[in-house]
This record gives sequence, C-alpha cells and structure tokens, in this order.
Amino acid sequence: MADTSGLVDYHLHTARCGHALGNMEDYARRADALGLAEIGFSDHFPMLHIEDRALAMGLEELPAYVEDVERLRAAFPHLGVRLGIEVDFLPETVHRIGPMLEPFSFDYVMGSVHYVDGWGFDDPRCIEGYQGRDIFALWARYFEFLGEAAECGLFDILAHPDLIKKFGFRPEADVSLLYENCLDRVAKAGLAVEVNTAGLRKPVGEIYPSEEFLKACRERDIPVALGSDAHQPEEVGDRFNEALELLLRVGYEGITVFSGRRRSTLDFKRGLRG
Ligand SMILES: [Zn+2]
Ligand SMILES: [Zn+2]
Repeated sequence: MADTSGLVDYHLHTARCGHALGNMEDYARRADALGLAEIGFSDHFPMLHIEDRALAMGLEELPAYVEDVERLRAAFPHLGVRLGIEVDFLPETVHRIGPMLEPFSFDYVMGSVHYVDGWGFDDPRCIEGYQGRDIFALWARYFEFLGEAAECGLFDILAHPDLIKKFGFRPEADVSLLYENCLDRVAKAGLAVEVNTAGLRKPVGEIYPSEEFLKACRERDIPVALGSDAHQPEEVGDRFNEALELLLRVGYEGITVFSGRRRSTLDFKRGLRG
C-alpha cells in the first residue's frame, strides 16, 4: 500500500458550516496521527443566493472562522495549518465574492460548483430533481459552469471537479469532449484541480475526478491539490492511499500546496518516505 504520510489534506470542514462534526483541534490531532505534513481548512463560504444555515456559515462568522484557524496554527506549530475557504460558484453571485474575500489572508481559495441553474444537484434533499432530466445536458451545463468558475479569477483550486457524478447518474453518451473543453479553459486560466476522496464515501463510490478526467488534466499539465472533504475528524486523510495510487498511475509526480495564495509542489519522492 502506498505510504501517505507527508501528504497534505486541503479540504476540511468545521462545525461552523452546520453539517460537519468535531472541533478543529480534533482534525489537527488526527492529521498528526496520520503523519500528514499540512492541513488546510476550507469550510463553506457563506451562501449568497439562499439562506440555509445547514449548508454554510453566515457572513458575520467569517472573521471568527479565520481567527479559529489562526489560533490552531499557533497551537500546532509543527503541523502546517493553512487557511482556505470553499466558495460556491454561481454566475449570479460571482461578482460579489471578491470584495468579501479581500479582508482575509487566505492561503488558497477553492471554487465549487454545487448548483446548476439554481438546483443543488449534490444535495440529498434535492435528489428528486434528477427525475426525468436529460443527464447529458445536465453534465454539459455542469462542465460549462466549471469552466466559467475557472475563468472568473477568484479561485486557486477547483474542488471535486466531477461532483456531478455523485449519485451515480451518468450519461450514456461519451463525455470526453465535455472534459476536454472544460480542461482547456482550466489549463489556460492556470489554476489547480482537486483530487478529492469524498466520492469514495458517496453512492458513486469513486474518487473525484475520474481517472479519465485526471489523465486529461495530466496531459495539460494542470496541477492537482489533494483533499478528503472531511466533515468529521475521522475522515481526515481518508483513503489517501487510493488517491496517491491514482495520481501515480496517471503520471503525477507531486501535488500542489499553497501559502499566501502562492503555489509550490510537494514532490512525492521527497515528500514521502519509502
Ligand atoms: Zn460540506
Ligand atoms: Zn464541496
């Protein structure tokens, strides 16, 4: 089994989002136990298009969230603790986000597409929306939004880039052109995509993104970040061995890490033992 110590987990949530458990110290202790080099909190940025405290913190909580991460950093000086945030991309709210991020010194900002034309397609409470839907058209729309998210200039990482497969609804037609058109835009915009192990815990039972998608990333030299999307401390670093095996199979030699929104590479050979 691949040795995953020395890796980083850049996708951790906190109880502030209303649907995650445990405190930040427990996440850090778990990362320590696994021998991770760094963790990054990337809790859900306040929702701007709906009021739903089961999905994200409120805007007034953002300063306290940032302070919590900074306090944890001081308490775990040997562990790299990064300040990230996961922001929903919606065409109708994107212009409001930049000024809201401005006051804070994030190490990285993740962009996510969780909504297609106002529908929360990955929310189990909204799953009936799949009934009677043209799945290929939905996927096309999703990857169009993902391309827009890449180009909006707000983000360093695109989170769980093929989240649209979460419940296992897949088009029968070939989707490779959707991937390629989207990833041409991502490569040109110069941001990273995330390899996210949460998909393994969801009905689809597969890492985000698929091997085919990741190969298309590799062909375009798109850097990759790594995250578990942990919503409880036990999920930190979850099944990173499978993520590492996938990355190595596709030909990646390292993952990307961030400090003050500047990117560098953590090489698997140097960063990992054995
Ligand atoms: Zn969440
Ligand atoms: Zn997400």
